[in-house]
Amino acid sequence: MALSEDQRLHFVLIPQKGQGHLIPMIDMAKLIAQRGVIVTIVTIPLEAEKFKSFIDRAVGWGGLQIRLLQLDVATAKPNGHDKEAATLVSHLKSFFKTASSLQQPFEQSFRNLQPAPSCIISDIVFDWTSETANKFGIPRIVFDGFGCCSRLCYHNILRSELHGSITSDSEPFVIPGLPDKIEVTKGKVPMHFLSQNSDEQLKDAIRRIKKADETAYGVMINSFQELEPKYAEMYKKAKNNKVWCIGPVSLCNQEIIDKAERGNKASIDKNQCLQWLDLKEPGSVVYACFGSFWNLTSSDMMEIGLGLESSGYPFVWVIGGGDISEIDKLLAENRFEERNKGRGLVIKGWAPQVLILSHKAIGGFLTHCGWNSTLEGVCAGVPLLTWPMGAEQFLNEDLVVQVLKIGVKVGEAEVHADDGTKLIEMTEGVGKKKQEVEKAVKKVMDGGEEGEERRKRARELGETAKKAMEEGGSSHFNMTLFIQHMMHYKAARE
Ligand code: UDP
Repeated sequence: MALSEDQRLHFVLIPQKGQGHLIPMIDMAKLIAQRGVIVTIVTIPLEAEKFKSFIDRAVGWGGLQIRLLQLDVATAKPNGHDKEAATLVSHLKSFFKTASSLQQPFEQSFRNLQPAPSCIISDIVFDWTSETANKFGIPRIVFDGFGCCSRLCYHNILRSELHGSITSDSEPFVIPGLPDKIEVTKGKVPMHFLSQNSDEQLKDAIRRIKKADETAYGVMINSFQELEPKYAEMYKKAKNNKVWCIGPVSLCNQEIIDKAERGNKASIDKNQCLQWLDLKEPGSVVYACFGSFWNLTSSDMMEIGLGLESSGYPFVWVIGGGDISEIDKLLAENRFEERNKGRGLVIKGWAPQVLILSHKAIGGFLTHCGWNSTLEGVCAGVPLLTWPMGAEQFLNEDLVVQVLKIGVKVGEAEVHADDGTKLIEMTEGVGKKKQEVEKAVKKVMDGGEEGEERRKRARELGETAKKAMEEGGSSHFNMTLFIQHMMHYKAARE
């Protein structure tokens, strides 16, 4: 018997504007709506532009019930490593202020949403959604774009109160209570220490976010159990079983157009990109991209390009952030593009990452280890070359290299964190060189028996990832469990 509109579940999703958080939540909206749940995405007009065509296709072609609730509030533009811009502290303060400003207009609109929403799934930065959810008697599920391993690491650091005793940036310590020995320094888990910053307003915002995260009803995770089974199990236990791994969500993009337009308008024509890749041998190309937010210095960027070139392998190199005109000048001085014509494809701006990674020509992925990129590399079944810069990326690197054994580090990172505010600035301290890139590429692409073993593990994980999302797979099942859980919650309330 079909449910009437009033009886249907209705989930409200509130993504934040950073693409690393926004993109997976939009995919999540589609996955939820595919199960017959009505989804409302709360956003602002500027952000809606980035995913409206994707939603229009899901609604128009797929017949899904995904609605947009656009709140008209003034916002600051997201900004990565912009030296001219404000410091990280003021950037974060303005970001958190904007996040808070959505509460009132959202609560006003909430009363008019039909049918009455059954839960809120909100980004971690919207701590106020806990209060809203309480007010309306529904659960708040938190999403922060992390995997289970990094979530468990942060959880255990917090519980152990280690952060009070670690003062030096460079003092290594082992994160307690993990299934593997993961050793970090304060600089490699910067977000955790950001709350030690001396700015009272920032400290207060972080305290609120952490508290709302700790007390949230449950956690939605873009990962799959088979990828990090022990971490998923332990984290679930720590959170009273209310953790749902429903990824890799990027796999909901099966059509070329969805892969090509994911997250932003690509700065290269999708057909040009595919034709270029079609001419290459399977597994021969290295794809290099550093996410949506983190900008390397021009000189670090050039070292990457030169390292890719001297490895001898074909490459796709994304120059996404930073001062593109400055890098362009360096490229011209070096006659880089001319010299690498046919062998290297340089993309300046937004790349259709999932489209590229799913092409059979790709054999390795040089990544900053943002969790989405890490998972997208896993889905592509290729080994990773790791160059983390901040946030939880060093923990993702440890998972990939040390635990899963599908990655190779590009040199060793030297990071410094001070009071946690070097979250972005630390990229300048990394300064890896051309030789390190070249060495890592060669190790991944032609590393003999060891390289073959690594490729095999990566390939198998890629297959497992796909199975997890299919009917009967673990993530598909977890989505069923989540929806059933919300159904019971709703029934108990009525
Ligand atoms: N991305 C993309 N094209 C680009 C840069 C990034 O499609 O040129 C996407 C990428 O596929 C991923 C997201 O942006 O889904 C970046 O998220 P991630 O967690 O990897 O890193 P962040 O940008 O949050 O540091």
